[in-house]
Amino acid sequence: MTVTAYAAQTARADLTPYDYEPADLGPLEVDVDVTHCGICHTDIGMIDNDWGYSQFPVVAGHEAVGVVSAVGSAVDPEHLRVGQRVGVGAIAGTCMSCEFCLAGRQQLCPARDDTVLRGHRGGFASSVRASDWRFAYPIPDVISSEHAGPLLCAGVTVFAPLVRHGVSPTDRVGIVGIGGLGHLAIQFAHAWGCDVTAISTSARKRDEAIELGADNFIATRNTDELAQAAGRFDFILSTVSAASCGTITLPR
Ligand SMILES: [Zn+2]
Ligand SMILES: [Zn+2]
Repeated sequence: MTVTAYAAQTARADLTPYDYEPADLGPLEVDVDVTHCGICHTDIGMIDNDWGYSQFPVVAGHEAVGVVSAVGSAVDPEHLRVGQRVGVGAIAGTCMSCEFCLAGRQQLCPARDDTVLRGHRGGFASSVRASDWRFAYPIPDVISSEHAGPLLCAGVTVFAPLVRHGVSPTDRVGIVGIGGLGHLAIQFAHAWGCDVTAISTSARKRDEAIELGADNFIATRNTDELAQAAGRFDFILSTVSAASCGTITLPR
């Protein structure tokens, strides 16, 4: 089987067609014919070699959705079978036996196999491989493939903290940063029943945020709206990492 992919041959290069022959399928591995794939900022970072450890050619794409085309000899057909629609996210497989894996925190596994790191080839391709079938997630019928894609990295990134911190439907939640992560966070918190306030530097995102389900909107730059909101929130989810966003100083 030849995989037809789009790869960056060098840092910051345009993606160009790139074919490769995958190794023989291991007992726990699963191949997925990709029909849809989201684009996450980590994909851009890997293509641009922002962190200095990209292995070229880079085939990015870790929000892949498609149909299982082959399963390894140890994969129980009761759990995963050829023809099933699944998603493969940022993690392609883990050891499943270290202290982190056994505690359900596979994202911390030191032997983790990431879908677009360390030479593993991602979902901007005709096929992507999960190193362990347990990381090829069946997609419920009610979720379309194009909508399922972004849930596999951006979605879980903002969903997990809502669950982990026990955010309840009666909570007043602030979502800082109304980009890709913020869009999903607003929708999750709104669907959960929370009173949702979108917080962004400028009012430019106001209509978008309200349309996605925000109940309120705060513009932080050149306004005192944030200071007025002091003490209002039960939970604040910040999706902003850039230092240029500055710090927020509340009045004493
Ligand atoms: Zn990602
Ligand atoms: Zn592990």
